[in-house]
Formats: sequence, structure tokens, C-alpha cells
Amino acid sequence: MSTPRGSVGFMKDEQQFPRPEIPERASHLIGDEELEAAWESIVDANRETAASIEHFLTHRETRWKETMGENPHVRAANNRQANRHAGLLLGMSDQQATAVLNAAEYVREHLPKFWKAFRCGAIALTNLRKAAVETLPLIHRDGLLEIIDEELVDIAPGKTPTELRSWIIRRIPELDMELFNEAAEDAKERRSVTFTHFGEGMSLVELFIPTIEAKTIEKKVNAAARGMNRAQPRDTDQPPIGGPHPAAVGVGDTTPVDHDAPYHDPEITTGGVDDRTIRQREADLLSAWLRDGHCYSTPISAKICVMVPEESLTGESEEPAVSADRASVIPAADIRKMAADPEADHEWYTAGTQKDKKRADRDILTVIYNGRFAPERLRDAVIFRDGVCQATGCTIPAERSDLDHQIPYERAGPTTGTNLWALCRRHHRLKSHGYLPPPNGDPPKSDTGKETHRKAA
Ligand SMILES: [Zn+2]
Repeated sequence: MSTPRGSVGFMKDEQQFPRPEIPERASHLIGDEELEAAWESIVDANRETAASIEHFLTHRETRWKETMGENPHVRAANNRQANRHAGLLLGMSDQQATAVLNAAEYVREHLPKFWKAFRCGAIALTNLRKAAVETLPLIHRDGLLEIIDEELVDIAPGKTPTELRSWIIRRIPELDMELFNEAAEDAKERRSVTFTHFGEGMSLVELFIPTIEAKTIEKKVNAAARGMNRAQPRDTDQPPIGGPHPAAVGVGDTTPVDHDAPYHDPEITTGGVDDRTIRQREADLLSAWLRDGHCYSTPISAKICVMVPEESLTGESEEPAVSADRASVIPAADIRKMAADPEADHEWYTAGTQKDKKRADRDILTVIYNGRFAPERLRDAVIFRDGVCQATGCTIPAERSDLDHQIPYERAGPTTGTNLWALCRRHHRLKSHGYLPPPNGDPPKSDTGKETHRKAA
């Protein structure tokens, strides 16, 4: 428990809690009256939320002090009641309110600068909780929370919770590689399978396993569901993405994909139409594999894109690998094991990089395939370079995105790394309508179309 601080009058003190400006990534929206007013309302709401949390914490601490010297069970029950009171007012369950207050208390005590940004209204409650959960491993390492506290104030405003989480999980091994590797080892010990059965005759099967294994399963089941290992379907409603697909390069504008739309595969059904969605097919396949070992007669190949320093492969360093979408960090030992697998068919790329704290990883400047040039290699290179869809704030992996020509192919836009960028389906459509101009391509068709190009969050 931290010592309570006075909260009365905080919100009136503009000097202590100055109002935040519109985040840099949204600065192109300045000048639009409605959007500026919306931003002011968001800041007000964030500040009010922060003030209410401060009150709840003070309430909880006051009660904790009042029961000083009493039996620990009585004190704990009293504390639970304080959380319950917060839940009643917040419209949350006791557990949710407890999680919120514990996260807030942790941030206030261990990330004071970030807490202040929260009180100013620059940080939403969801991101406060995200920061609390993800930075917790650093708590026993002297000085590291101070470093990340300073950085979060700069990084967090305007970031989505997913982006913020990705940034923190990449930053931790940079701050303390040993800590990351120890945590990874501990987590591995907790691997498990959980079965939860629901009332509708359906159940949830959860598998807690190393990321490298999960990614292999994910890619294989997806490839199988899409029939990626067979001839590519030609119908216009066939999703072409979901893995490296030569046809996606050079065309630039690939066919729409919808995970929940029926997927027609002429090779699966005889005469009729298989109207299962991709998700349904993935579930059916995985269930069949697990139940009776049923598998395709031909092996399913899956490609996992990871970035790993050469020294980690040779064992000179324990610096972990990062997935191409920058969303997962994989221990060096796991990558060495995969690299040594004689069954695997590896493709190596050399990337020119530089350390970039803002992105908490190596900023990829160039990617070169060590072999004969082919369009699929170019697609891979763009996947590594961009990481995720290039619309600001989007975290859809580049692997699942389209490769779009910034200057359209029909207007002599070249099929080169510099002219190609990864855009998810949603943002690709936005760009097609002129609302997401690329950095080097078309001028915007309308004023609202001003957007900026950026690298993976
Ligand atoms: Zn996107």
C-alpha cells in the first residue's frame, strides 16, 4: 500500500496537470472544428476518470489505515469492501474494480510520470491498465521502471492498447535481456491445456504453449484451410492472402478477404459448394487433427517470419528474435532450436538495421534476400520492413495484408520495394477511395484524406 495523497483541488490546477495537445500522429486533424471539440471532450473525460480513480484509491487507503492493528482477515475483507464500493459506482464487478484500482495504484507508485500524464488526460484508462500489466516484470529490477516511465510518457499518447503492449514487450528484453529470458523460462513451465464447456453444446480449448510452436500451428491450419498448398483458386471471391502468395505481388490490388465469409474451394467438395468460413474450416481441421490424427495427404507447409540478430543464432548473444509483425518476442534458444531443425526449409534475408528506442526494436532500413531474386522474396522483404499495415495505428500484420502499389501499377507504378507498402484490407479500400494517400504516391482526393506513413508501432 502506498501512502495516500491529497486529491482535492487537483483538477483545478492546470499548472500541475496541463491539458494535453492532440497527439502527434493525429496532428493533421487540427483545424477541423468538430474534431478539435471532440478531442477536448476526450481530454475532459480522461481527466474525470483519472480524478475518480484517485478518489477510489484515497477511499481504499483511508479505510486500510482505519483498520490498522486489526486481524489480517478483517483488514482484507475491509479492503474488498472498498473495491466493491468502487465497482458499484463504476458499474463493474468487484473483480474488475479491484483490477483497475490495483493497476492504478501500481502506476501511481512505480510510474509517477506516466501517472501524471494519466491525470492530465493524455492517457485513457485502458492504456493505464495495459502499462501496469506489461511493465510489472520490471518491478524487481532497480532503475528500469524509471527508464520506462520516462519513455512511456513520450510513447503512449495516441497509441492503441495493442500498439502499447507490443512496444512494452519489445522494450523489456532491450532493458534487461536476462530478465526476459528468465521470464520466458518460467512461462514455459506453465504450459497447459484448458477445457471450458459452455451451455450451448460448445466448448473452448485453450493451449498455453511457446509462441514459436503456436505460430507454426496457426500458419499450418490457416494454410490448410485456405488450400494454400494446392493450385490457387481463380474465382474472384477467392482470398489470395494469408501467406506469401506470388500473385499478390505485381498486381497490387488483390481480391478482398473476409475471414467470416464463405470460402469456396472447388477441390474440397464434389459438385457442391463448401460454404464454411475460413474460421470454421480452421476449427474443423484442428479438431479433426487432434481427434483422430486426420491430416492432408500432402504435407502442409507454413512460413514463420522472424527477425533475429546473427549473434543470437551463433549463440554469442541471447538477444531474442522478434516476429515480423513486431507483436511477439521469441527467446534466442527457441529460435536456435528452430534454425537447427533439419526438417525445416529456411530462407535467410539480410537486413540493414539501426536501433530505435521509439519502436523498441531495430528499425529495418533494407532487406535483401540471400538468393535469386523472385517476387515472393520481395513480398517477404516488404513484410519484414513494414511489419504491420502502414495506416497509422493499425496492427494487422503485414503478412495478412495486401501489397499495394503506392503509385498504381496501371499508372506505371513500379513493382519495387519503395513503391510497395503493406495495407490491410480495410485500409487498402480506404486508399482506393483516396482517403489514405501514400507517402510518395497519389495526392489526396479530399482534405480528410491526409494521413501519414509510418513504420511498425
Ligand atoms: Zn490497416
